[in-house]
Amino acid sequence: MLYRVLEGGKVHCSLCNHRCIISPSKRGICGVRENRDGKLYSLVFGRAISLNVDPIEKKPIFHLFPGSTSFSIATVGCNFRCLQCQNHDISQMALDNGRIEGSLAPPSKVVSLAKEYRCKSISYTYTEPTIYFEYAYETAVLASQEGIKNIFVTNGYMTGEALKTIQPYLDAANVDLKSFQEKFYKEVCGASLKPVLETLELMRQMGIWVEVTTLVIPTLNDSDKEFEEIAQFILSLGPDVPWHISAFYPTYKMLNLPRTPASLLLRAREIGVGTGLRYVYCGNIPGEEGEDTYCPHCGQKVIERVGFQVVKNEVVSGECRHCHTKIEGVWN
Ligand code: SF4
Repeated sequence: MLYRVLEGGKVHCSLCNHRCIISPSKRGICGVRENRDGKLYSLVFGRAISLNVDPIEKKPIFHLFPGSTSFSIATVGCNFRCLQCQNHDISQMALDNGRIEGSLAPPSKVVSLAKEYRCKSISYTYTEPTIYFEYAYETAVLASQEGIKNIFVTNGYMTGEALKTIQPYLDAANVDLKSFQEKFYKEVCGASLKPVLETLELMRQMGIWVEVTTLVIPTLNDSDKEFEEIAQFILSLGPDVPWHISAFYPTYKMLNLPRTPASLLLRAREIGVGTGLRYVYCGNIPGEEGEDTYCPHCGQKVIERVGFQVVKNEVVSGECRHCHTKIEGVWN
């Protein structure tokens, strides 16, 4: 899907903003789309490297069916090269090891497994769903017919064309906003920032439920200025867009930096809340309240979480049980 043939047997892929021009017998930057005699083939269609039942809170998605499970799938491959990738063994497999692995799991099987395990949603996650777009698309169409929601956990680098194609079937997305510096995207991820911001804006215009995640890496994206810029941008999307702030630990090619201290996450949260964001979350800090949802009007704790477990949910028909203020999200 979403490519055109050029002169000389080359093809131009427009799935993501790398917009690769691929010569015959070559692959795109993601390593999983190959030009064979002027046709662009996905090498990962129906080949799942991960099939799991996860709490939806693990995505993280906090405002869509809290406490439910999400059937989570991935193939190998990614269009980013993040030095700190926590899933590099699968996301970079094609490039680092020259292998494309996965078990046969066609879209119909994914949907029937999601039903069997009583999952309310399917998450396209762990690696980047854009690079297995045809697989995600066909699965999402079938899932929609069964009343199962579809969630992309994504770096946001897809093109507008790709987003418009999947939009009728895409209910929600958690989008990484990794930094507010072009330099960071270029040097750490091998990509650029602007398309990610455009994707976030387009998703909101399309009515897709959006939550944003930022992994805070000491010294690279941890200044007050950067937290403020990210928070201001999310505010421009809407004060009800949740912002998840998460902690880095040394991994893959970024072993020289320390873990993120809790104080930095709390500082980012303080700035997010001070900017006017209503739902700013930071997890894994014992004794803190960064995982809970508070009513923006009366201040009551309406959803209490411990790790990935929901231990209290007082959002009733999308409203605070105490004062009936609307809590934005997908609840029914
Ligand atoms: S999806 Fe892959 S081949 Fe297509 S533009 Fe992106 S990196 Fe290139």
